[in-house]
Amino acid sequence: MTAARLLIVGPQGSGKGTQGVRIAGALGIPAVSTGDVFRSNVAEGTELGTQVKAIIDAGDLVPDELTSAIVRDRLEQADAAPGFLLDGYPRNLGQVGDLDAFLSGRGEELTAVIELVVPREESIARLSKRAAEQGRADDNEESIAKRLAIYERETAPILDVFRERGIVDEVDGVGSLDEITERITAALAARGITA
Ligand code: AMP
Repeated sequence: MTAARLLIVGPQGSGKGTQGVRIAGALGIPAVSTGDVFRSNVAEGTELGTQVKAIIDAGDLVPDELTSAIVRDRLEQADAAPGFLLDGYPRNLGQVGDLDAFLSGRGEELTAVIELVVPREESIARLSKRAAEQGRADDNEESIAKRLAIYERETAPILDVFRERGIVDEVDGVGSLDEITERITAALAARGITA
C-alpha cells in the first residue's frame, strides 16, 4: 500500500474542493484547502484574515512565504501524519519548491497528483452558478478572469514538474459528482492508494 500524500489540481470551478473532501473522507486523511483556511480567517476577522482579504477579493495570490508557512503548520499536526490531500497548494513553482523541501525533510514526497480536467467554458459556468448560490466575494467577473489567467500561467506549469515524476493522473472532471469520485478513486487504487 502506498501512503496517500495527495494533491488535487484543477482550474477554479473544476470541483476540486468538493472532490477533495470526498476523496480525503473516504481515505481517512485530512483535506487541506488553503482557500478554505484563508476564507475562514477572513470570516473570523483574524490578523491573517485582515492581511489577506484584499488580495483574495482581487483574485491575486497570497505571498508564497505566508502560504507555505500555513501549510507546513497544518501538515505538522498529528492527523496529517498518515497522509493528507492538498487542495489549492502548491499553486506555482515557488510553492512546489517549498513543499518539496518540507516533505523531503521528513523523508516524504507526494505520491499522486490528480488533475481534474474541465473545459474553460464549463468552469466559468460553474463559477457563475457558485457566485449566485454562495455569494463569494471573489466570484465576480473580474476576479474570475484573473484567477483563471493565473491558473493557466502559474499553476498549469506545476503539472509538468509532477508529470516528469510520473505521479499525475488526469481525470475527466465532467460528469456527476459520483462518477468523478469513482474515476479518482480508480486512478488512486491503480497506484496502490486505497482506504
Ligand atoms: P481557492 O479556494 O483555492 O480558489 O482559493 C481562493 C483564493 O485564496 C485564491 O484566489 C488566492 O487568493 C488564495 N489562495 C488559495 N490558495 C493559495 C495558494 N496556494 N497561494 C496563494 N494564494 C492562495
